[in-house]
Amino acid sequence: MKEDLLHNLEIINQRIKNACEKAGRNADEVKLLLATKTVSAERIKLALENSETLIAENKVQELKEKYEDLKDIPHENHFIGHLQTNKIKDILKYDVRCIQSLDRLDLAEKLHQRLAMEGKTMDVLIQVNTSDEESKFGIHPDFAIDLVKKVSEFDTLKIKGLMTIGLFSAETEKVRTCFKILKNLQQEIIQQNIPNVEMKELSMGMSGDLETAIEEGSTIVRVGTAVFGARIYPDSYYWNENSKNL
Ligand SMILES: *Cc1c(COP(=O)(O)O)cnc(C)c1O
Repeated sequence: MKEDLLHNLEIINQRIKNACEKAGRNADEVKLLLATKTVSAERIKLALENSETLIAENKVQELKEKYEDLKDIPHENHFIGHLQTNKIKDILKYDVRCIQSLDRLDLAEKLHQRLAMEGKTMDVLIQVNTSDEESKFGIHPDFAIDLVKKVSEFDTLKIKGLMTIGLFSAETEKVRTCFKILKNLQQEIIQQNIPNVEMKELSMGMSGDLETAIEEGSTIVRVGTAVFGARIYPDSYYWNENSKNL
């Protein structure tokens, strides 16, 4: 088990390196984020002890369950799931550095209120639905810039970039279109020079499409399956609008 995990990590890091080389980019421009939903704290620990540093959960409940076991190992925690406003209080307890899935104004407003109350700030990425699938969270690309502007007015929220989940398709060019949409939005936002907005990070690319994402400018690839193996729950459990209350 341990050997498999370390071997998988080696392969993924090599894939990232190769993709960067092919795209003429430096390998240190792309961070590997481990998507750890359904993975035990014990196995996450193995990865962290093997010099990985960036992990992310989709559910506050899992963050909470693994927190004690992981808190003494140096690492950075992001959140990549659908965040319900009634979980804001909880998520702020667990040293989450960045919420990558900010996709609506009411969530931003409530996050800001709570952060202000606690005297904290939070890094955020704006999640954009670039694949036009209703089953996925994220703001529609047409409204993304407007959301960025509005969120930028909350001084506790530090916008660092954009996040998207590419289309699930074997057709690389269709997947690429999603990543291009995100990159184009990033460029438009940079041009608008909005105060309190940084646009360095593009979180895009997963186990199946990270090479394409890196070619299109990804700075964070989020990988689960290729490192930890297949999950028992389908992704719709985490992504689908209808299952958000589970
Ligand atoms: C699970 C998940 C990933 C990782 O997906 P894999 O295909 O297992 O690599 C990336 N991003 C988000 C938002 C996820 O929920």
